[in-house]
Amino acid sequence: MQIQTFKIKGMHCASCAGIIERTFKKVEGVSLAEVNYGTESAKISFNESKMNPEDLSKKIEPLGYSLLLPTTNNKENTSGKKQEKLSEIKEMKSKLMSAIPLAVISVFIMGWDIFAQYHAIPEMSDIVKEFFHHLLPLMATYVLFTIGKPYLLGFYRFLRYGKANMDTLIGIGTSFAFLYSFIVTAFENSLRPFINVDATYYDVTIIVITFIALGKYLEAKSRLKTGDAIEKLLNLQAKTALVIREGKEIEISINEVIHGDLIIVKPAGRIPVDGIITEGNSFIDESMVTGESMPVDKKVGDNVVGGTINTTGTFVFKATKVGSETFLAHIIKMVEDAQGSRAPIQALADKISSIFVPIVLILAFITLGIWLVFGTQALGFAQALSMGLVSFVGILVIACPCALGLATPTAIIVGVGKGAKNGILIKDAGTLEKLHKVNTIIVDKTGTITKGRPTLVDIQSLSDLKDHEFISILASLENKSEHPIAHAIINYVEDPARAKNVNILLISNFKALEGKGISGVINDKEYFAGSVKLIKDLGINFDNTKLEQYTLQGKTPVILATKEKVLGFIMVADEIKAESKQAVKDLHKLGIKVIMVTGDDEKTAKYIASLVGIDEVLAQALPQDKLMKIKELKSEGKIVAMAGDGINDAPALAEADVGIAMGNGTDVAIESAGITLLYGDISKIVKAFHLSKMTMRGIKQNLFWAFIYNIVGIPLAGGLFYPIFGWTLSPVFAGFAMAMSSVSVVSNSLRIKSKKL
Ligand code: ADP
Ligand code: MG
Repeated sequence: MQIQTFKIKGMHCASCAGIIERTFKKVEGVSLAEVNYGTESAKISFNESKMNPEDLSKKIEPLGYSLLLPTTNNKENTSGKKQEKLSEIKEMKSKLMSAIPLAVISVFIMGWDIFAQYHAIPEMSDIVKEFFHHLLPLMATYVLFTIGKPYLLGFYRFLRYGKANMDTLIGIGTSFAFLYSFIVTAFENSLRPFINVDATYYDVTIIVITFIALGKYLEAKSRLKTGDAIEKLLNLQAKTALVIREGKEIEISINEVIHGDLIIVKPAGRIPVDGIITEGNSFIDESMVTGESMPVDKKVGDNVVGGTINTTGTFVFKATKVGSETFLAHIIKMVEDAQGSRAPIQALADKISSIFVPIVLILAFITLGIWLVFGTQALGFAQALSMGLVSFVGILVIACPCALGLATPTAIIVGVGKGAKNGILIKDAGTLEKLHKVNTIIVDKTGTITKGRPTLVDIQSLSDLKDHEFISILASLENKSEHPIAHAIINYVEDPARAKNVNILLISNFKALEGKGISGVINDKEYFAGSVKLIKDLGINFDNTKLEQYTLQGKTPVILATKEKVLGFIMVADEIKAESKQAVKDLHKLGIKVIMVTGDDEKTAKYIASLVGIDEVLAQALPQDKLMKIKELKSEGKIVAMAGDGINDAPALAEADVGIAMGNGTDVAIESAGITLLYGDISKIVKAFHLSKMTMRGIKQNLFWAFIYNIVGIPLAGGLFYPIFGWTLSPVFAGFAMAMSSVSVVSNSLRIKSKKL
């Protein structure tokens, strides 16, 4: 079984997505198909032994679509895809340009007719009338058969395969208008006694098709803009790399870089892939991954990330991650996947647009029938026929659920893209949708509320050990740990003023005691370092009121003990991030309760919480306690988000309705959470909430506008209000409305882009 995503050519409308999806699902060997109109792509899971992409494409080709199959040279070539889209748009434009003058002439004739009817202007002279009488059919023929070709094909496929999409609706509408007019023109004299032969609808054909082509053109142009976040990310990628092969420096394409290649980076160059510096040093601008605009000092042994920018030094690094494995490639893939994913809110719109087309078709015919039957009694056959035909065409044209299909995906594409630009990576549309409903957020203390870079502030040896002996034992243990507390202690002892007094001793049997501390053996003696909870669990008697003067100030104790007794403790203090207080306030404004959970000491945690205004604290929590807390909140009906560092918090992140991984630099667990904040602090979480709200509001507005056009438009076009108010909707306006509905939905989605987060 293989899952692959293909771009699709020839998609014009939301109903196309449904048609393609159903066609694929019927194919043997295909177990899943998800077609997205927003990204014009299909995610297909198929059995390779029974199906291959070429045959899959053949299944939809008769319906007017095809899969863009990756060939070896255009593999994942996004700029190529864009080029193709651009030339498609150019072609749309040139066709449109040929139709617009014809539409203008038609509007002119139509206007003259209408004004003349009200005696506002004199009627056309017979000779002018006669001239237009012959010109209009020619113009309509041109427009219908060149610009309107996709719609005619839609009509043809409907007749041939029974599959109707929105092109079909427009195709039937406009060709009926054309055909009727054509028959009237051809048999003018014989038909004169029965119908009004002066009323033809060539102008309707011309104007409707031109409007729709105009709408599609504008839509395509602005849709191009919805996807530019990916393009910006791609632009971060270097195109080439200067590698050393067989002792020579050669410049190769970034795709040809392999593991272990030694790559030279010159001043102001972009780092092509991920790797480790082997020679030289430099300052590197890593703002892409850290959000920090100050370049960072990198020397031999340090990691570099593809896409970041070198400043003035020259260095050589060894490629460790290439192609799709790089950090940047992961981000791009994640954004692409998220933009192509489907939000739950879309399900309704999808369902409606899939049943819409057949229903509208039936409705249009029924309306025509009603006009002919009842209209004839009231108005006479000639008038009823012409009203019926106008209603028929109007319904078909206005009912196109194109805007409906664009409503959700365009907003998602823009929202996800905007997030990526701000260092907020969203895994899928569903997460973005869920986020705006969250009313409780659980945050980690260390690294989320505080900087996560604690420093050692006090040492209290409680035994006969000298301070430097005591700290040597502690530092030796912590030397093996990755915890921020360990870094604080190591930084302390590595300070040149102290370094010579401290011996790093040999440790055996090192253990990390989850959520409590660490242990290890030095010279056959077992030592423990960690929290009060650790000491309690070891069953050691310890009067922890000694700690209170520190913990009440928000300092965290690390107690060093043997199995029998406490040897002393040190205190570390971590600064609160400058943004934390405001961010908690902003979360409150959004109606979100903020709960802090931490493995830290209770008094320490409460003190920190009180400083930033957090509502509730759960201290001395083991990872499973965090999990339990989330379960408990969920069972109370709360919608819970959890923000953590993504590594030891993975189970809690997964359990929460929305998991937010707080990354710092490249060590982010992108897969484990619904949202990954590449860098930054809790104020980014506030931004993520705003983004979700903004996107959802955009979607709801889009859906409203898309529905409104149809709900109001269909009965109006059908002539429902004619008997009461004398209102009808000319197919010309239907075409205009239909074009505008798509355009307005896309531009409304684009508005999200320029809004402040
Ligand atoms: P949190 O991320 O919420 O601080 P952890 O599970 O990482 O939770 O740690 C919980 C507590 O365990 C810390 O506050 C500290 O008291 C203790 N601890 C964990 N690792 C160490 C370590 N390497 N050295 C000393 N204490 C530690
Ligand atoms: Mg932690």
